[in-house]
Amino acid sequence: MKVLPFFRDILRIPRESGHEEQIIEYLMEFGRSRGLETKRDKVGNVLITRPASEGCESWPTVVLQSHQDMVCEKNGGVEHDFARDAIKTVVEDGWMKAQGTTLGADDGIGIASELAILDDKSLKLGKIECLFTVSEETGLDGAFALEKGFFTGKILINLDSEDWGQLFIGCAGGIDTTANFKYVPCPLPEGMLATKFSVTGGIGGHSGDDIDKKRANAVRCMARFLYEALDYDIELCEIDGGNKRNAIAREAHATIAFTEENEDAIVSTFNRLAREMADEYAASDPGLVFSAEPLTWKGDIIDTNTAYCLIAALNAAPHGVLAMSSEVKGLVETSSNLASVKMLPDNIIRVGSSQRSAINSSRKYASQRFEACFALAGAEVTHEGEYPGWKPDTKSPILKTTVESYKRLFKEEPIVRAIHAGLECGLFQGKYPDLDMISFGPTILGVHSPDERLELSTVDKFWDLLIDVLQHLA
Ligand SMILES: [Zn+2]
Repeated sequence: MKVLPFFRDILRIPRESGHEEQIIEYLMEFGRSRGLETKRDKVGNVLITRPASEGCESWPTVVLQSHQDMVCEKNGGVEHDFARDAIKTVVEDGWMKAQGTTLGADDGIGIASELAILDDKSLKLGKIECLFTVSEETGLDGAFALEKGFFTGKILINLDSEDWGQLFIGCAGGIDTTANFKYVPCPLPEGMLATKFSVTGGIGGHSGDDIDKKRANAVRCMARFLYEALDYDIELCEIDGGNKRNAIAREAHATIAFTEENEDAIVSTFNRLAREMADEYAASDPGLVFSAEPLTWKGDIIDTNTAYCLIAALNAAPHGVLAMSSEVKGLVETSSNLASVKMLPDNIIRVGSSQRSAINSSRKYASQRFEACFALAGAEVTHEGEYPGWKPDTKSPILKTTVESYKRLFKEEPIVRAIHAGLECGLFQGKYPDLDMISFGPTILGVHSPDERLELSTVDKFWDLLIDVLQHLA
């Protein structure tokens, strides 16, 4: 029980993302009061250095890293001021929980284990640099702002994983790609009927973690119908679907206009596609609902050419898994998420998307494919929010050491995996290309919600593994 006393200590300290002043102060004091070299950078990332124990001066320097901030969520009716109050905990059946709030074991356990190492002079270790970054939860801000040379170690252990028994060796980088169409508003030709078609009830999910689950993308479902409806000289009155870049679109709708003689054919096309898609997505999205609602359209419509180009591009744009890793079994390497289509003021239709890959050049190419598709359709395409991935290296020395330690201590094989989502490690690798990294931690369930709970038995195992790895790197 080396780690928990320090964890209990930081439960008192407010550390909501973007409001880390008090935890920064605490960390600075923690290091200085123990006579350790302690520094912070402009954004509040803190580094405390523990010199090598006697006789361990030749061991490699290791960076241990956690993030200072926590997601602050509470249940309705719970009185808790995250800016002031300590997190109150309960322990039940071997699990620690907070009372109606997030616990902050993500990543408080990482912080606490670093503090335990800094505090215990009796541990025989090489030089350790303890890095505590800010605002991971709201956009990896601390890792983004980290300056080259802030730490010197060439090995980094990230302490922000939540699945005991699993060693993480890679993550995806990402980029946002946006396409803007400028359309000409036109009056609705006389005598045309209008109907609003909707797709709702999709499961959606995270555009990284869930992209390989073959879930329905409501924007794509809608585009698929509109593309077939083009056979009947339709006009597009309005279109809307999806929301966040990092979410698979759950809902979309479009209002189209057509002549009375085509009404039956269009409605039966929609009904047929609804049956076909309900069938295709029966396993992944059993709640998918397709509906049609006739209405009277009073506004302008989108010019026919832009409508055609938009519909065609929404159908052609890359969405879903583009490549699987050949090195790490079951890992999505590259993907694209067709996230949203929105009508904005000034006659703009905006298509939002994001692309991810563990390999930076593949991410770039995926975003170029998306760009090319919309550029062909006459849209203006921009990219932003790019961040690098962490390419899995199955031959990494720190991985080898960690696997050996794990097997020695627990008499079983750990699971080695990578994730198709962003981690701070991707940004570290961008700044320190030769860094050898791994990530592991105790089991934490329900992170980012008041259900967050820490499996206490895995905390000691996590500690034992961490110390064993540090002592076998020489
Ligand atoms: Zn975390």
